[in-house]
Amino acid sequence: MPVPNSQSTQKLPLRGNFCVDPNFQFLKMVNLLNLDRQGLASFFAELGDKPFRATQVMQWIHQQGVLDFDAMTNLSKALRQRLKEITCVSLPQVQTIQASSDGTRKWLLQVDSGNSIEMVFIPEDDRGTLCVSSQVGCALDCRFCATAQQGFNRNLTVAEIIGQLWLAEHTLRTEGYRVDKCSQAISNVVMMGMGEPLTNFNNVVKAMNIMMDDFAYGLSWRRITLSTVGIVPALARLREQCPVNIAVSLHAPTDALRDQLVPINKKYPLPELLAACHAYAKGKPSRHITFEYVMLKDINDSPTHARCLAKLLQDIPAKVNLIPFNPFPYTHYQRATPEAIDSFRDILMQARLVTVTRKTRGDDIEAACGQLAGKVHDRTHRQNHVNVKESYT
Ligand code: SAH
Repeated sequence: MPVPNSQSTQKLPLRGNFCVDPNFQFLKMVNLLNLDRQGLASFFAELGDKPFRATQVMQWIHQQGVLDFDAMTNLSKALRQRLKEITCVSLPQVQTIQASSDGTRKWLLQVDSGNSIEMVFIPEDDRGTLCVSSQVGCALDCRFCATAQQGFNRNLTVAEIIGQLWLAEHTLRTEGYRVDKCSQAISNVVMMGMGEPLTNFNNVVKAMNIMMDDFAYGLSWRRITLSTVGIVPALARLREQCPVNIAVSLHAPTDALRDQLVPINKKYPLPELLAACHAYAKGKPSRHITFEYVMLKDINDSPTHARCLAKLLQDIPAKVNLIPFNPFPYTHYQRATPEAIDSFRDILMQARLVTVTRKTRGDDIEAACGQLAGKVHDRTHRQNHVNVKESYT
């Protein structure tokens, strides 16, 4: 990346989109991956160019996977030169890729000198699902989650969120991977990786807008699911601004138990959360809410818990996803037995709740729900970290 000419950068407002040049000097350049179509249109307007450049550049970068400005042949030479001077397309750096025996793949991606995140690709016969991270670490401290053990570091930028989809889509496409009769490799996105997406609201919504943009990845809202612990005020904003499918991490049928497992419940207790879910489900098109429920042995897996959950959800258009607990180093939780999970499911089904037990994928590479931990060497400190936390609770 050439050093920008200082005059040209000064004409543009500073946007806080850093790029690194090959000599590792920080340059104030606009990372085009941070801009959705509206953002790109304003950017080109500021440059004195036509707003339709936004769709052209979006197609090159996101649809075609082209990052070299010289190859963007429908842009004038002068514009290409200008883009080279003042912009960049900066992706997270791939550190490692692990493949599971079941075809699941996990990428460790470096997002800055001290931070890494993970993303996971889960292939199935009729779909290719990418599990995307929204933060480095997580602030929510759910007791059974590996990401929570590493604490919260920072929100991911739009570029770092959409960059995950870019990397997976274009890597897999280059390998010849396609979803059934489709030109794309990724057909579904779940915002279920590291972090709580609704506490990084603006960046997550912008990134999901790019996922749904016909000039980028063209995914329907039906193919995007945002998993949240249930940040009540943000659910209303999401319904208004970007109503994708939601999955709510419930994990307990009573406030007393949820307060322990998912501490944010003390701030947004079940009656408020369920009212917000009702509101989210209403409107056109109406939608089902998925409720996630991690099955923890002797904690939340009894028939009484199941009956209580069925009662709690009886008035909501709900689907229930039972997630067998996925262990990680130093946790004291255990997975509920298959028998307990089956009878829990049967009780919910008898109460006419559509209930599915989530298939655990990629557990041999620690890519299953709740196992994503980012930087590998964090593990060496986890024992201390867990002990310190537990001693205060
Ligand atoms: N912050 C979001 C995304 C988290 S990960 C949320 O809370 O929804 C996606 C799902 O995996 C959540 O339902 C989360 O509670 C669940 N999960 C976390 N740790 C897990 C573990 N060890 N085993 C199984 N599921 C887990």
